[in-house]
Formats: sequence, C-alpha cells, structure tokens
Amino acid sequence: MLVAHTEQGELFVITLDTCLKKLQQLRQTTTFYCPQCKQPLQLKIGRVKIPHFAHIKSNACDASFAEGESAQHLLGKQQLFSFFQQRVENVVLESYLSPLQQRPDLFVTHYNKHYAIEFQCSVIPYKQVFERTVGYERHAIVPLWLVKTPNKIPTFGIRKISLSQFYQQFFMRYKEQVYLITYDTVHSRFIYFSNLQYVQGRTWIANVQPLSLDAQSFPFFVPKPLTEQHLKEMFFLYQQHRASFFRTKILFNRKGLNDLFLRGLYEQRLNFEQLPNYIGIPISGGEAISLFSAEWQSHLFFFLHIFNLKLSQLDEQKIYAFLRWAKLPQSTEGFSAIKRYITFLCKIGVESITNKIEDTTLFLHLFSELIAFSEKN
Ligand SMILES: [Zn+2]
Repeated sequence: MLVAHTEQGELFVITLDTCLKKLQQLRQTTTFYCPQCKQPLQLKIGRVKIPHFAHIKSNACDASFAEGESAQHLLGKQQLFSFFQQRVENVVLESYLSPLQQRPDLFVTHYNKHYAIEFQCSVIPYKQVFERTVGYERHAIVPLWLVKTPNKIPTFGIRKISLSQFYQQFFMRYKEQVYLITYDTVHSRFIYFSNLQYVQGRTWIANVQPLSLDAQSFPFFVPKPLTEQHLKEMFFLYQQHRASFFRTKILFNRKGLNDLFLRGLYEQRLNFEQLPNYIGIPISGGEAISLFSAEWQSHLFFFLHIFNLKLSQLDEQKIYAFLRWAKLPQSTEGFSAIKRYITFLCKIGVESITNKIEDTTLFLHLFSELIAFSEKN
C-alpha cells in the first residue's frame, strides 16, 4: 500500500516525490493506520521494493486489492499516479469503493466519467477479472486493465509474438482493430501491441511500439489503423508462417490420412504447392477458430468437394453443418469468421478451388478489406 492515515487522521501518500529521509524520520515518530480497517501499519523501507505500508498482520483487508504488492506493482502504481495527477481532474490512489468492496489501484475522474485503473502484474484467474469488470461497470465505472509488459518482448515494428491466455483477456477493441496496452515500469513506458492479427495458438502478429509515459495522454491513445506498408510486412510474416505450417504438416504428421487436412488434399488430388494463395489468409475475428487459417480454409473447400456444393450455396445452415463436420467450434464468432471468409472469396471472384488469383490482387483486396472495415465502422 502507498496510502495511510496519520495519527491526526490525515491522508498520507507515498509518491515519486516523497523524500526518503523524511520517511525514515516519520517511521520513528509517527504511527500510520490503514484507511480502511484502521489497524496500525508498518512503514517498510527496504532495498527491493519502494517504501510502502503493510498491515502488521495480514487480514481480510488485503483481499480488497486486486493482487499482492510486488515491487513492480508498487512502483507502477506510483508512476501511474503521478502520470494521472498531471492529466486528469482527480485521481485517488488505492481508493476503497465500499459498495463494490474493491480497491482499484487508481480511481480516476475525468470529464464526469469515472475510471478504475488496475495495473495487473500477476496472473489472476479469468473469473476474477470478469467479476471485477462487471462490478465496476454496474456502478458506471469504466474499468481499464493495464497489464505489465511481457518479460520477453521483440524489437519494435511488425513482429510475430506469443501472447498467453492471460494477456488475451485484456485485448481491447476499437472499430475492427484489436490491440493490447501494456506498461513497463523499468522504462516508464507503455508498450502497445496494435493491429493484432491472430495466427495460431498463442501466436499473433502485431505492430509492437513503445510510448513513453510523458508522451501518453488520457484517455489512452488508440493505435492508428494499418498502413499499406505495415500490412505488407504483416502479410509477409503470415506467408512465412503458412509455408512453415505446410512443411511441419508433411514432416510431423502421424495421423496420415486420418488428418482431415491431408485427406482433403489427397482426395482433391492436390499438393501443398498447388494450394491457391487464398487458402491460408488472415480473416478478422479468425481467433474464434484456434486452427491455423490454412487448415480450416482448406477444410471448407474439401467440404464443398465432398458435398458437391458451390461457395455461393453456403447459407447459414450449411455453414453450421460445415462447422460440425470439421469439428470446429459452433459459436457465433466461429460462424462469423467463416462467413467473412466466404464473403471475401466471393468478392475476389473465387467460386471453386480451381480459380487462380494473382498475389498482388489478393493483397490489394486484403488491404482494402481490412482498412475499409475499420473505417466503415
Ligand atoms: Zn486494512
């Protein structure tokens, strides 16, 4: 904790500017109390963590914090507190919201709107994040989860990255764009993972960019849509992944023709090289299907082949039949991803797997599709 009451009942906050000597002095002369449970607190001044307060005996009060007080968490709270002090009407550190029995790291009021800022450094269960989010929203408070920057980040630019489920729950959406804002206490900066494009499993492609605390504003910057150059780089990485996906399929497949993907190729008398370029393309919302796009997209053509159907005949009922047949999730999101893919194919003039599309044409359509989509909304 960074906030305590003094013996006189005044609020005392340890900020970035608090002088260490003064704290050492106060430790000798003053007793501090927890603003919530009124129990006496210890003022801890050590080497690993910044100076902070702690209950002498841990009690139920600690549970109202979203997480324990790691060194990184304490420091991040302090840095962010000073950031908000300079930018918003009002910010309170560790404010206890009694109707919710929650204590967000920072409670911000700005243009008559309330925000609960949680700086999340440790992995907490999805359920807990969900319940807290719902709790805030029910009280007309906007929850903003700022997650710590992953330990291993690539160099900046368009990169293939790995993000665990923990990070994925904090993805934000603006128009059609998916992005993640993380905070890095070591360099006092935000790391943005923007224009997130799902690849497979934990793998995503993103535009990785730093933004220093000083350059940030509030509400936080929303990343820009992709430029054509960025999309080119992204598409290049995506195609690299596609090629390595095919290589792995050939080398490590143990299921043989029980593998739906390989069986599809075999029965349509195709090999990897003959697979058209529009099988294995990114589709927005594609994360609803955990398989790599090349796999489910080729399943779709195999489905058409087996049941002797045309793309244009795939109505809602048949799309759900396809999802069942291919053992894919029959969710609304899964359905939408398939539907979006079919619409895209129709737009570029693909009716069957025998149609050929030039790479440049495919790219141009993909670009206008992704950009137009985000501008339309
Ligand atoms: Zn307490």
